[in-house]
Amino acid sequence: MTRTYGSCKRILVTGGAGFLGSHLIDRLIDAGHEILCVDNLFTGTKRNIDHLHSNPRFEFLRHDVTLPLYVEVDEIYNLACPASPIHYQHDPIQTTKTSVHGAINMLGLAKRLRCKILQASTSEVYGDPVVHPQPEEYWGHVNPIGTRSCYDEGKRCAETLFFDYHRQLGLEIKVARIFNTYGPRMHLADGRVVSNFIVQALSGRPITIYGDGGQTRSFCYVDDLVDGLIRLMDSDTSVTGPINIGNPTEFTISELAERTLRMTGSSVPFVKMALPQDDPRQRRPDITKAMEILGWEPKIELEEGLRRTIEYFRQVV
Ligand code: NAD
Ligand code: UDP
Ligand code: UDP
Repeated sequence: MTRTYGSCKRILVTGGAGFLGSHLIDRLIDAGHEILCVDNLFTGTKRNIDHLHSNPRFEFLRHDVTLPLYVEVDEIYNLACPASPIHYQHDPIQTTKTSVHGAINMLGLAKRLRCKILQASTSEVYGDPVVHPQPEEYWGHVNPIGTRSCYDEGKRCAETLFFDYHRQLGLEIKVARIFNTYGPRMHLADGRVVSNFIVQALSGRPITIYGDGGQTRSFCYVDDLVDGLIRLMDSDTSVTGPINIGNPTEFTISELAERTLRMTGSSVPFVKMALPQDDPRQRRPDITKAMEILGWEPKIELEEGLRRTIEYFRQVV
């Protein structure tokens, strides 16, 4: 049942004051929908959604998804969870609770409302992958008791819950496995590599390369990612995922550091630091499914995405 008029839907975005959530909301508002943004502001900020408060189709609720939530909506995007290693490791017990209890509550809500629900899962479900690039069929190589496990295993358990609510109760689910995404509105102290390097270069501090810098990541610009999430939510009922959403062009961390220096015009030095525990050696999505099922592929190359991101950070650093 649609709770609003015409093609306009009432959509819940958890984690909506965060980096990805706030961009997703912008796009959904532009498409004419009503948005309920739920966030406990752990890593998200009011500044990310400041521009929306005067819009009558936007509503913010400060709430922790580990607690039950009784609202009326047509669709749910479940993004609530800190995504940066320094933040999800700050209170690892809370991180697992957010992933697992948060998923249970949002699935319970979707079950009562009989509405579609999308989970923001992650490439971290593949752990430190021994299959490269990673297709959705790969089960992963994950340490269950390490410092990253609260996030990796929390997200894996959330996927299990989504598929059991689907199989057991017939819930319509969509699971997106998001690979490293970057762009404007990442928190200044987010700690993830793209924002860290840009902030360091712009503020005259050395660029911190963890390990030898030979590890790889594939970076997706936020606009492409949001497009993929919406396509997945709007896909045929039979499409559950999991579907990888990310940019398949792979770079070493050293290459990213050099590119950041060149593009910011900075001349700060590089400093090598210890590699964090279980840091994946390589990561690149196989996006065949996203291309075939969603007709999606990323359009914004790293050079252009970095240009836009640097422009944003020049205003806030
Ligand atoms: P973010 O930290 O900017 O956003 C997460 C948001 O969730 C924040 O606003 C935070 O305050 C909120 N939150 C955290 N715990 C909560 C709780 N218990 N209750 C309510 N709100 C809570 O991170 P992001 O990059 O925007 O990531 C959004 C989602 O996408 C996360 O679920 C993350 O795991 C997933 N993801 C992101 C990436 C990426 O590269 N950005 C990659 C893989 C997966
Ligand atoms: N829940 C919620 N909002 C709702 C319905 C349920 O937050 O509108 C929560 C509720 O707290 C419950 C969880 O979702 O613990 C799982 O709900 P489900 O119906 O699957 O399980 P049950 O209530 O039977 O344990
Ligand atoms: N990294 C780095 N310097 C930094 C931050 C991160 O060298 O200041 C490295 C990190 O060790 C990892 C990669 O960059 O190999 C991506 O780290 P990020 O925290 O962005 O994401 P994730 O490890 O979750 O992919």
